Amino acid sequence: MLIGTQLLGEIEASIASQRESGQFGLVLVHLRGIRQLAALLGFEAGDALLRAVEMRLVEVLRPMDQVWRTGPDEFLILLPQLLSANHGQLAARKVLREFESPLTVQDRPMVPLLTVALALSSDGDSASPQHMIRRAMSALEHALLTNNRLALANEAHADLWLQDDLRDALVNNELSIQFQPLVDIRSRRVISVEALARWRSQRHGVIPPSRFIALAEQAGLAPELTRWSINAVMREYAPLRRELPWLRCAINLSSKVFSQSGIEDQISGALAIWGIPPAALTLEVTETAVMDDPELCSATLRHLRDTGVRVAIDDFGQGYSSFTYLKHFPATELKIDQSFVTPMAHDLRARQLVRSMIGIAHHLDMEAVAEGVEDACTLEYLAEMGCDIAQGYHLGRPMDVPELLERLRAQG
Ligand code: C2E
Ligand code: CA
Ligand code: CA
Repeated sequence: MLIGTQLLGEIEASIASQRESGQFGLVLVHLRGIRQLAALLGFEAGDALLRAVEMRLVEVLRPMDQVWRTGPDEFLILLPQLLSANHGQLAARKVLREFESPLTVQDRPMVPLLTVALALSSDGDSASPQHMIRRAMSALEHALLTNNRLALANEAHADLWLQDDLRDALVNNELSIQFQPLVDIRSRRVISVEALARWRSQRHGVIPPSRFIALAEQAGLAPELTRWSINAVMREYAPLRRELPWLRCAINLSSKVFSQSGIEDQISGALAIWGIPPAALTLEVTETAVMDDPELCSATLRHLRDTGVRVAIDDFGQGYSSFTYLKHFPATELKIDQSFVTPMAHDLRARQLVRSMIGIAHHLDMEAVAEGVEDACTLEYLAEMGCDIAQGYHLGRPMDVPELLERLRAQG
């Protein structure tokens, strides 16, 4: 469906005029096989079927509902003044049901195959009419792909508009960076910080990175996100480092950036522009990223390693670990996944696993980093096991630069 500008304007005006009178719904109705029908019986038959469908829609809906033909095989229905979301669903189901009995088209009985998608306005919804139509469209798309007759514009489809908003957020600076301290276990001093992205969306509120990083990757936005995060981190870290020259910084790299060329130049370029020595930067890469394309990934990281940049294997133990890649992988740090570290205080098995992982790191000349340290007891176990670096809520949550500075100045 690609609605012409004039029709879209008319539909948008109708939706806008209904906003005041409570919840409303949009239903997209798609007819399967209309092209095949036209090919078989001629365009007149196709047209006659569409007219019959439109007539029945008007018959079964309430007088206040509006029906538009929005494409060669599609109709859009506006359901104003719904008493509840349930009434919207009832209407959509009614449409499906009413078309189970045959229509008469050119004196022949015909049962059209309908797919129906419903998008509902919600309380305080600030979505534009066009947004609502697009929500219904993506729900329909989903229904057609999954062979469902009825689809609701739910969370899964909301993802699609989140992706759109994320694209805007990158341009409009809605994203920001927080820094979480990494502590040297022997000296108990902060030696590095990990940069973590934050998104406070005007429309959706706070969205956790676990969600929006995945969305960015699905939407092909990983390169933009990486470019943004390298610049945003450097902008905040460069002045910090001038005051605290010993402080290192770690950036997370999405697994998707390795298939794009230019990541090496981007990083080296940013370091040069901001006057940061490569050894002050750690790139965190997950095991999964490494396993996706071990050769490409390790070649890129080896070049960066050669310039002095440090490399950490993130979330170690969580993905599917293959020890072969570790042998060739140019990493300087092994970050043991929090799922092993957090339960250490009360879980013997977790402690045994962490001890082994620290051993692996040291055998391969890497520093062992434990993330997810949430209590003093865990920190003591890690110290006793010879772990090098710790990170976790017990040592400091992710924070903004002013709070971080205060913390670091206090450490002297
Ligand atoms: P990660 O790289 O494993 O980052 C550590 C996550 O654990 C962070 O979650 C951090 O806030 C959280 N964390 C730290 N200490 C503790 C603790 O003691 N207990 C618990 N339960 N959690 C702790 P966050 O900030 O929500 O980030 C989630 C993930 O999103 C990150 O996991 C990373 O994979 C990704 N991410 C965040 N920022 C970026 C970014 O700028 N670029 C990319 N590509 N990924 C990012
Ligand atoms: Ca990380
Ligand atoms: Ca991690």
